[in-house]
Amino acid sequence: MSSGRPRVLIIGGGFGGLFCARRLGRVGVDVTLLDRAACHVFQPLLYQCATGTLSIGQISRSLREELSRHRNVTTLLGEAVQLDPDSRRVTARRPDETKFDVDYDYLVIAAGMRQSYFGNEEFAAWAPGMKTLDDALSIRRRVFAAFEIAETLPPGPERDQWLTFAVTGAGPTGVELAGQIRELATRSLANEFHKIEPEDARVLLFDGGDRVLKSFAPALSERASHILEDLGVELHFGVHVSDVRRDGVTVSPKDGSAEQEYATRTVLWTAGVEGVPFARHAAEMLGAATDRSGRIKVDADLSVPGHPEVFVIGDLAGRDGLPGVAENAMQGGWHAAACIRRDVAQRKRKDFRYRDLGSAAYISRGHAVVQAGPVKFAGMLGWLGWGFIHIAFLTGVRNRFSTVATWMATIARANRSDRSFILGGSGHPEEPYTWESPVHQGQRSAD
Ligand SMILES: Cc1cc2nc3c(=O)[nH]c(=O)nc-3n(C[C@H](O)[C@H](O)[C@H](O)COP(=O)(O)OP(=O)(O)OC[C@H]3O[C@@H](n4cnc5c(N)ncnc54)[C@H](O)[C@@H]3O)c2cc1C
Repeated sequence: MSSGRPRVLIIGGGFGGLFCARRLGRVGVDVTLLDRAACHVFQPLLYQCATGTLSIGQISRSLREELSRHRNVTTLLGEAVQLDPDSRRVTARRPDETKFDVDYDYLVIAAGMRQSYFGNEEFAAWAPGMKTLDDALSIRRRVFAAFEIAETLPPGPERDQWLTFAVTGAGPTGVELAGQIRELATRSLANEFHKIEPEDARVLLFDGGDRVLKSFAPALSERASHILEDLGVELHFGVHVSDVRRDGVTVSPKDGSAEQEYATRTVLWTAGVEGVPFARHAAEMLGAATDRSGRIKVDADLSVPGHPEVFVIGDLAGRDGLPGVAENAMQGGWHAAACIRRDVAQRKRKDFRYRDLGSAAYISRGHAVVQAGPVKFAGMLGWLGWGFIHIAFLTGVRNRFSTVATWMATIARANRSDRSFILGGSGHPEEPYTWESPVHQGQRSAD
């Protein structure tokens, strides 16, 4: 403790890290919030950014701006890459590859999860995940560019490939994306093209289970399935996507029947998650156990066994009954802050008790499902409930107002105001005119 005040280092400014930092604002500790992106992203609305309804500015906020009122909180841009628990020091990498150290008395690891391809990392080149703003913009580019490319092709199999969209994983994110692409095709883009009929776009949703939205009650899943089918989404259950290529996917039924090939140029991956690389390293350095997905096992107060000065919160906290949802991360952030405050006041820590306040998933315009304990509703009521919950937790008053205004305009006029996407525009060889990254191009020439 350099200045006599405990130094708290929080890694990650997502729901967990931000709520922890806010709770420690104006408390007698010095807080450093380190984030590799320097902004808080409201992940539940990433799909609306990906499909052109909202801008990245509406679903994110600079951490520096958000925490500027708290004089004891410093925000730093950097990616935590190394942990030395003996000297209580974290090394972070700046975007220019140089490094710096941050010392701590308390460490709160809130770095979240990343998309998992279940060991098939090569799929990532063709099938972006949906965890970051970069992912959302990459998906936006692929989805809108697919319709544009189809417009330039004669009728036939090549055009059909561009008008076929495959989504893996029928959890909330997969359902939201699949529904939005069909809605985009049938409403927003319906009258804008001359050669193609955007309504012809096929959206295929693949999942290994037997229903959509497995974390919801079966009746809500069934309702969601009907809404998706009415919208034109093709549901495929009991299957694994076993190969992803530039021009298609292979799907393997779990019952051992014959594999199926689907020709598509747009694959979106929402099937699984795993701990971020720093979490794996931290667990190793702390001698902490992890589960299959890389969540770090924690004690009842969310601290790492044998390291009462290190907390793991949010999606990364490995403890029975803790779901990977925003509410768990926010409550975990508050709890870690409360433990630190109790330590400072020399009072006994309390155990973490997660209170399930329910969950909601958007399906399509006018339809969402909401589940809170015994209360379950869908349809228009669900949609209004979903909208209210999301606006309540969106960061920043300006973002809330502008999001509501955008939603109202989208409902009234079916248009989407944030459809712009970026392709290399300078003519420089390092910025080619393509929506594929240089990594993808390298892979293509190796194909
Ligand atoms: C598309 C999508 C939709 C979702 N929809 C819902 C929903 O409707 N309802 C719901 O309750 N939950 C939803 N979730 C889940 C919810 O967003 C997460 O549970 C929540 O964000 C977890 O919070 P967290 O603080 O643990 O991690 P995150 O919010 O993921 O934050 C992690 C932060 O750590 C930073 N970071 C990562 N690695 C490092 C590093 N090495 N160094 C520094 N910083 C690092 C990242 O930049 C990020 O800011 C959704 C998630 C996704 C991806």
